[in-house]
Amino acid sequence: MLNSLIALLDSVYPSFKENSLTDKSFKHKDIVPLIEKMAFLSRIPVGESVEKRKIYSLTHSGGPVRILLWSQMHGDEACATAAFFDVINFLSGRKTLLFYPLLNRVRETILSALSIRFIPMLNPDGAERGTRENALGIDLNRDAISLLSPESLILKNSVVEFNPTFAFNMHDQDYLWSVGNTKKVAALSFLAPPYDAEKSINNPRQKAINLISLLYKLFNPLVDNRITKYSDDFEPRAFGETIAKMNVSTILIESGLWKDDPNKLFLRKINFCLLITAFWVLANASVPGDSETYSSIPYNGKILKKLA
Ligand SMILES: [Zn+2]
Repeated sequence: MLNSLIALLDSVYPSFKENSLTDKSFKHKDIVPLIEKMAFLSRIPVGESVEKRKIYSLTHSGGPVRILLWSQMHGDEACATAAFFDVINFLSGRKTLLFYPLLNRVRETILSALSIRFIPMLNPDGAERGTRENALGIDLNRDAISLLSPESLILKNSVVEFNPTFAFNMHDQDYLWSVGNTKKVAALSFLAPPYDAEKSINNPRQKAINLISLLYKLFNPLVDNRITKYSDDFEPRAFGETIAKMNVSTILIESGLWKDDPNKLFLRKINFCLLITAFWVLANASVPGDSETYSSIPYNGKILKKLA
C-alpha cells in the first residue's frame, strides 16, 4: 500500500508544488508572503534572526503524536524549505482530491492523528547571503549547547515548548559524498543521531532507526539506490545529537545531488513524498522494528572527494 501511496503522491505533486519557489536561491522575502497568507496553520513569529528577519513556526494542532520539522539552519540549504511549502499545500486541503479517495483518507488521518509544527528557514540571514553560517558567522549546528545565536535559541525553545515525539532535521549535503565505496553520488542521506559517544540506542532512537529503515526500503529504489547514512560520529554541539538527548526520536535528512538538477527539483519532490509518507506511517503507529536495514545502509563515502 505504501508503494502505491508514493506513486500517487508523485503523480499529484504538480498540483501541490509551491510554484512561486522555482529554484534554490529564494530568500526570506519570498517565503514571508506565503506564510502570511496561510490560513490553515497557526502562524506564530517565534523570534528574529540577528538581522531582525522574523522566524515563524507554523503549527497544525491535531492528535497526540507531535512532529517538529525545521529547515535551512544552514542558509544555503534550501531544498527542504521549498518542500515544506509543497507539503503544507497538500495538508491544507486547498485543492480537493475528488478522484483520489486514498489521498483524502491519508490527509484526514494525518491531520487527526498528528500535531505538526514546521519552522521553515531557521537561518534567513544565511539564506540572504547564500552562506552556511548566520550573520555572526556561526554554524548553528555547532551552537546547540552554547546558544550564542538567536536562531539557535529559537530552535531549542521550540523543542522544549512543543515537546515533539519525532523531530525532522532537514539539510542539504555536500555534492561529493559517495554511496559507500562506490563512485555513485549520494542523492539522500539519513541518520538517527546518537545521543552519546557510545552510540547507545534507547527507545526513542530505536523508533527513529525503525522509521529510517522503512523509508530507506521505500525510497532507495526511487533514487537509483543512492541513499546513504550520514556519519554517526558523536558531535555534542549539533542539534540532532542535542535533541536526541532530550528523548526525541530524531531524524536527519540530507538532500544531496541529482544529475542535471541544479535546483534540486527532483529531490524536493522526493522530500514531499517522503515526508507525507512518514506522517502517514506515524499516524498509523505501524513502524516495524528493524535495526538490520538501518545497519545495512552504506555510509557517505569519501572517494569522490579524493578524486575532486
Ligand atoms: Zn546543513
